[in-house]
Amino acid sequence: MKKVNYLDKFLLKVFILFVFFGSLYANDHPYIIVLGTAQDGGSPHAACKKDCCEELWDNRFLHKKVSSIAIVNPKDKKFWIIDATPDFPEQLDFLEKKTGFSLAGIFITHAHMGHYTGLLHLGREVMGSKNVPVFVMKKMKKFIESNGPWSQLVELKNIALKELSNEQFISLSTNLYIKPILVPHRDEFSETVGYQIKSKKSLIFIPDIDKWSKWSYDIRDVVQKNDYNLLDGTFYNINELPGRDMSKIPHPFIVETMELIEKDKNKVFFIHLNHTNPALKQNSLEHKNILKKGFNITKFGQKFHL
Ligand SMILES: [Zn+2]
Ligand SMILES: [Zn+2]
Ligand SMILES: [Zn+2]
Repeated sequence: MKKVNYLDKFLLKVFILFVFFGSLYANDHPYIIVLGTAQDGGSPHAACKKDCCEELWDNRFLHKKVSSIAIVNPKDKKFWIIDATPDFPEQLDFLEKKTGFSLAGIFITHAHMGHYTGLLHLGREVMGSKNVPVFVMKKMKKFIESNGPWSQLVELKNIALKELSNEQFISLSTNLYIKPILVPHRDEFSETVGYQIKSKKSLIFIPDIDKWSKWSYDIRDVVQKNDYNLLDGTFYNINELPGRDMSKIPHPFIVETMELIEKDKNKVFFIHLNHTNPALKQNSLEHKNILKKGFNITKFGQKFHL
């Protein structure tokens, strides 16, 4: 009887040590955290008097920040933000408080207002940052260097532009990598990229793309090969913007993406939802329908362990 007791105690100690070191290991591992889920203009949207936004203006708790994610590496006590949005001040504050770590760099997808204008906060008028690495593609780099007010960030060395090459991984730490992937989009000022972030697991982030059929990759293969896929969910379907020509602002409708992807639906998380997208509201039929079909909608503060 006594022997069994000792054995029990021994096993319990082993178990506790296992859980303790296991959690240390898990805490040390990089992860992605969602900083915003809405399209460039956020939700509510400037000047929108429609049902989608009207009731939101007086209730700040229901506001949704602009689409952005961060890569957090607890081992080095650093994080990187993908896309500097108009909500950058709050998103940075949230991350600093949540992690206790500091900003190691910013990756930009493209030159539409929801994705890079937050860079202005790094300038002389606000943070007065020193050489914050900003990772961009070639045209985006040229755009920032040659247009005010962005060029001043470069001249005053608030930011240090780092040029990325399509589909070339760069290393952020041991066993933590990121690469840009070109996607078709309305490229007025810059090219547009999505990103793949890889450690033990891999995550795809494509907030903006015209249509899956215009891309060189088959989105079904991409979803299959990656553990988490944060994909453009701007519009739910074609009826969303009455009176506007939706072919001028192409995105894969959520209903199209759901039709296309038959396997691994649980690895898809819609992000970058327009203020008009009914799925932004948790109690909507459209929101429930997405979940019922086995897909997901990203949430603010959601973590993906890499
Ligand atoms: Zn966008
Ligand atoms: Zn609205
Ligand atoms: Zn865009």
